[in-house]
Amino acid sequence: MSIYRYILFPSLLFSIIFGANNYLWPTNASNSITTVFGDIRPFRYHTGIDIRTYGINGLDIYAIEDGHISRIAVSASGYGKVVYIKMNDGNTSIYAHLDRFNEKLELVKEQLQRQCDCFSIDHIFSENQYPIKRGDIIGYTGDSGSLSGPHIHFEIRNRKGEPFNPLLTNYTLKDNISPVPEKLIITNLDKTSYINGLPKIAEFEIERISDTDYVVNNIISVSGEIGISLEIYDKMDEQPFNFGLYNIKLEIDNVIIFQAEYNHINFNEGYKVYSERDYSKYNFERKKIYSLYKKNNYKPSSFIQNIPIKKISFEDRSYHKCKITASDYNGNQIQVNFDLLSTKNKNTIIDITNKQNGFLVESNDEKLKSINIYLINELDEKIIFNDLRIDTLSSTSYFVQNSKVLLNTLALEPIYKDGGRGPIQYHKIKFDDTVLQGKIKLIDNERGTSFEFEENNFSSKQPVLGLTLDGKLYRYPLYKCSIRGYISQMFYPLELRGLTKASIFYLDSTIHQFSIEINSNVSIPGFPLILNDKLITLKSVNNQKKYSSFDESNHDDSFLYIQSYPDKNLIDEMDIIYGPFLIGPQSVPLKNEFELFYENQENYANLGIFKYDVYNKKWKFSDNEKEGTKIKTKIKTGGIYSIIKDNQPPIISKKIPNIGSTYRHDHFSMLQYEIKDDLCGIKNENSIEVLLDEKKIIVEYNTYRNMVFHKLKEPLNLGTHTIEVMVRDNCNNINKIKGDFYIK
Ligand SMILES: [Zn+2]
Repeated sequence: MSIYRYILFPSLLFSIIFGANNYLWPTNASNSITTVFGDIRPFRYHTGIDIRTYGINGLDIYAIEDGHISRIAVSASGYGKVVYIKMNDGNTSIYAHLDRFNEKLELVKEQLQRQCDCFSIDHIFSENQYPIKRGDIIGYTGDSGSLSGPHIHFEIRNRKGEPFNPLLTNYTLKDNISPVPEKLIITNLDKTSYINGLPKIAEFEIERISDTDYVVNNIISVSGEIGISLEIYDKMDEQPFNFGLYNIKLEIDNVIIFQAEYNHINFNEGYKVYSERDYSKYNFERKKIYSLYKKNNYKPSSFIQNIPIKKISFEDRSYHKCKITASDYNGNQIQVNFDLLSTKNKNTIIDITNKQNGFLVESNDEKLKSINIYLINELDEKIIFNDLRIDTLSSTSYFVQNSKVLLNTLALEPIYKDGGRGPIQYHKIKFDDTVLQGKIKLIDNERGTSFEFEENNFSSKQPVLGLTLDGKLYRYPLYKCSIRGYISQMFYPLELRGLTKASIFYLDSTIHQFSIEINSNVSIPGFPLILNDKLITLKSVNNQKKYSSFDESNHDDSFLYIQSYPDKNLIDEMDIIYGPFLIGPQSVPLKNEFELFYENQENYANLGIFKYDVYNKKWKFSDNEKEGTKIKTKIKTGGIYSIIKDNQPPIISKKIPNIGSTYRHDHFSMLQYEIKDDLCGIKNENSIEVLLDEKKIIVEYNTYRNMVFHKLKEPLNLGTHTIEVMVRDNCNNINKIKGDFYIK
């Protein structure tokens, strides 16, 4: 194994002494959690634990230790209503998403809101202003600022302001269940990387031996630099959630290659989450995958323990025992064992001859141990038939008897004497005139880009990839990676400079069958980049974050591209002004922040730049900041974008008071409205204005429930009152209601 670089991190010093705390559990809501510390969140790590409130608001929240209230804040997003307590031991405990503060803090909040004439506040208390005792009620559970409903986000920070795992204190949770691994994933990381003979990421099923032992059954052949990842979830007693781990470790040949332990994190390390977890699986499928390898130049986060981070690349043509150990905080531990075989790619030719009552399958590759032969459905690879009547003539020749099974394709998997497997080959039993048709897709990897081609019908012909680079056409081989699928080698960003077109040729033809136009550029951090595509411009943001570099290896350039994306399913019923278009890479996050501009030549009104949320299957408003005749948004990731016109004003419903209605004065203590806007959405509380008797009132905005509230200090006088509610969405559509209501 080649050693990439040894870096020894100083061992972590905690400002708390383990076991020395005797913190009170912060609530009577429950003793269970829904999310652990260090779990993945979009572009950050989860910095606390989420305590379960079973959908209920208004349960007690207690100070966990003596100290003083050091800060409170109110906001429609983020932590919502939140209390910070600086405790006598120097740590700070934080209680977020409250429904309301305790009475005394509510008064402080109201005073601060009156002072600023606003809803959002953020206030620091001096040390002696508001002392608090362990067990004092500081507020009540709620869903303010929450995206997922009622819960307490509870966080403890050390003296340096760094959040640490609250379970490192005296807290314990009921958890006797071990984590459950789902899939092993091997990623090709450079041009020479092949996994079971293909330059393509591969997933492997994991077999359970016992509650704690798992294996991958077949030996995996690898060459070049690879990355190893594991999809795994922890379970806790009586809880339905998929939790994150506390510790994960990869050993190869008894040497620790990678280890993470979720103890503490600094807030400025959030961006590293996608270096240590899989972005695309999380973003598109909400799967949680731990990446146990070095992806890029970033210095690993505080979660990565004091071990050398090695490049996983073998040159010895031998077997390597791999073991992944994973555990939860209670020490419930599992291990996954698998073998990698460092190998040179074998190119096995298998000949198939049609005979009267079957097929003769032959090869003269001496490295072959056997050929795994079965029938497969060309349109659905999950449908297979592996109970064929086969006469074994020798280890490399077989007679396959005709079968009555209505599957049209023979699949042939070479199995070698060394235990490795080669790419599956396919043979159509009955040839029909297939129309050559298919789709070309770009596959983004951490370090480069590959081209995938999928035929609509398996043609049995050999396609070739054509790339038009700086006006010249180059041809490259394609590898068969599934019954209708082909993959190219990986290209590094600079190799694709000047790419304008990707085409598919067939070996017996000089004219291309299909092609896609690609507008592209290569982005190098620190160098400004502009990519124009008709009315769209992509521009690197000047004040790019200076990420701390881990070493000098160059993986920080990336291949950036824009392609049209005419998917009818995404367009339906939308007033799409421009697009959809695809900005790539989309499977890995962008290495810089970019601004995306749309040149609004037609001077349309009520526009927004939208990104398609693949997981939730809906368009999400990104932004529409005006700059001259353009609108723009900042983007951190590629994906499918569109310019959409929204003419629908927000909907105001569940109105109390309703215009024209009469209310009993002793039953009327709160104004409330439900405010919804489907497409553009509502930015924040400043987009909502409520006037009671022509005087502006401060309303609370709860984004999770789409509600605005205002509690009356004093009952309203008997008689006629006026109410005016005005809401503006992000695309400048306004809904306004105004009129009288009566109190009797
Ligand atoms: Zn949380």
